[in-house]
Amino acid sequence: MPQPKEGDSVKIVTDEEELEGILMPRPGILEQGFTVLKLKNGYNIGIDEKKIKKIELSQPYKPKKQEKRKLTAKKGLPTVAIISTGGTISSRIDYRTGGVYADYTAEDFVAMCPELADVANLKAKKLMNVMSEDLMPEDWQKMAREISAELKDVDGIVITQGTDTLHFTAAALSFFLRLDKPVVITAAQRSIDRGSSDAFMNLICSVTAAARFDGAGVYSCMHGTSSDDYCLLIRGTKVRKMHTSRRDAFRPINELPIAKVFPDGRIDVLNKRYDKRGQVEPKSDESFEEKTALIQTYPGMDPKVVDFYLKEGYKGLVIAATALGHVPTNCNKEIVTNLKKAIDKGVAVVIATQTLYGRVHPLVYTNLRKLSVELGCIFAEDMTPETAYAKLGWVLGHTTKHDEVKKMMLQNISGEINPRINADSFLY
Ligand code: ASP
Repeated sequence: MPQPKEGDSVKIVTDEEELEGILMPRPGILEQGFTVLKLKNGYNIGIDEKKIKKIELSQPYKPKKQEKRKLTAKKGLPTVAIISTGGTISSRIDYRTGGVYADYTAEDFVAMCPELADVANLKAKKLMNVMSEDLMPEDWQKMAREISAELKDVDGIVITQGTDTLHFTAAALSFFLRLDKPVVITAAQRSIDRGSSDAFMNLICSVTAAARFDGAGVYSCMHGTSSDDYCLLIRGTKVRKMHTSRRDAFRPINELPIAKVFPDGRIDVLNKRYDKRGQVEPKSDESFEEKTALIQTYPGMDPKVVDFYLKEGYKGLVIAATALGHVPTNCNKEIVTNLKKAIDKGVAVVIATQTLYGRVHPLVYTNLRKLSVELGCIFAEDMTPETAYAKLGWVLGHTTKHDEVKKMMLQNISGEINPRINADSFLY
């Protein structure tokens, strides 16, 4: 007789009673030594294992198999490849056990959302299946290689991933890839099997943009409002997740969104600062220095944090500093001394801002001049700390010479530096 597993229907016989239900995973918060059973009335109960005499299997759990639809090409439609990498958009709740599984792939999206087939002829591929907080720079590199290999044969690409670090991926891919077509990253705040899921509209709008938007480059495409009105197409170096749970969590920082994409196929351009399709010779260069860190300053910060990175052999440090680019300078002189020590030893120190909106400034205050002129910190203009981190890792993958690092960091490579910030972009 096989041992009953989570999801199986079982009969549990204890000293006092017989209970029937579904065997559930034991939540981490429950003490060891308890078995959890979902009763027929829907309630879960924990049963002290010391009291259990036997567990009989009544019916083994068979997860439902999703029918795979064959993808057939329609004449005259553009072709889009959907590449899945994991995250909530790939996850579903198993309502029998209550567990969350990240197992939907690009092929399932196509099967579950038949409207996609009217927007473009689709190719689907699962590249990996991870939650985005676990993505590593080497995963961004893997995505870049996959995009380069696929893009020759299609009109655009949609990448699906988790929302949490979508803005890191978008920035990294924006530096790794010179593109002649659009690469659109999308995700979902609510899993695809929930009525309130944002997944389908995000997918439809993303496939629309990948198929027909006239621009090239890396963009995010997610809900623009908390209703199902439209999605915002946002430049990969200017997007940021700004809310833990809202469907419209992704906002542009320091520029207007590039376009609104409607589920009926309309694309309204709002910001013309983008390369058109076919303008740029495609190229992939995914060098990345993994000894690059992102840290945040705060009143009371321990200066030894800087020393730690120096000792660990880091080559670059992005500091999310306060407002215009300040770090504690006078009350705690050791921070500046340690930064100087790191810079003298060849570590590139880049200053971005915790406020996200606005631009850092290397000169307006004496303290800022100390960092920029005396120490040689590089002020990252209006880049978000995450974009500055992705860029610094990429730049250090090419050179560690201070002058060259500074020149590349201050050169606009993928729209990350906006010389004129439109006032309407604040809290857009
Ligand atoms: N933690 C998940 C992730 O980023 C959340 C999501 O996908 O929305 O993968």
